[in-house]
Order: sequence, then structure tokens, then C-alpha cells
Amino acid sequence: MSEPVELKCPRCGHAWKYSGSLSRYGTVCPSCKSWVPIPRDLRRIPPSQRIRRGVSVSCPRCGHEWVYSGAYLPLIYSGKVVMIMCPACGKKIRVKIKQQAQTTASP
Ligand SMILES: [Zn+2]
Ligand SMILES: [Zn+2]
Repeated sequence: MSEPVELKCPRCGHAWKYSGSLSRYGTVCPSCKSWVPIPRDLRRIPPSQRIRRGVSVSCPRCGHEWVYSGAYLPLIYSGKVVMIMCPACGKKIRVKIKQQAQTTASP
């Protein structure tokens, strides 16, 4: 269980109590649907999850977000565009690797 944290959307200024998982890097603004990062000191990302490879995907239709770590992952990492299906609504989504904004110093 995680206690709610106050998040504020940098785009529309909407502030709300986020009570979802903190083991992720951000969430979607309930007002304008843009990506709102969870501040670093509020995140509780387990070390194992940080190492596990995966591509975070968000569905443009239903807003569902998840980390894809399936069979196409090597293709995605090699820069190919891959179609995967949203597990929530079934929409096919084009996925390709995004440049990581922040590169944390490794080991
Ligand atoms: Zn917003
Ligand atoms: Zn969806």
C-alpha cells in the first residue's frame, strides 16, 4: 500500500493526490493526459525492477500504461518499430524505443 502523494502536472497545472503505484517513473495527468513524472524522492522503485529491461508503453486510446518486456523487446531495442497490443483495450500500438531522457550512472 502506498500513501497518496501530491503530484502537479507541468503542462496544465492540475494538482491531485496520486495514490497509485510509486514503483514507476510517472503517471498520466487525469486532466490533460500528459505524462507527469513522479519526483525522484517520492519514487519507490525496487532495485530489481530498475535492472529489468523493458519498454514503458502507454496506450493512446485508453491511457493504460505498462512495461512491455515480451518477445519483441530485442527488436524494439534495435530501433525497429513493433506493433504490440494493449492488454487493456486491445488496441494495436506502434512501439519504438525512446531516447532515455536521464541516464543514471550505472553500477
Ligand atoms: Zn495536465
Ligand atoms: Zn488501451
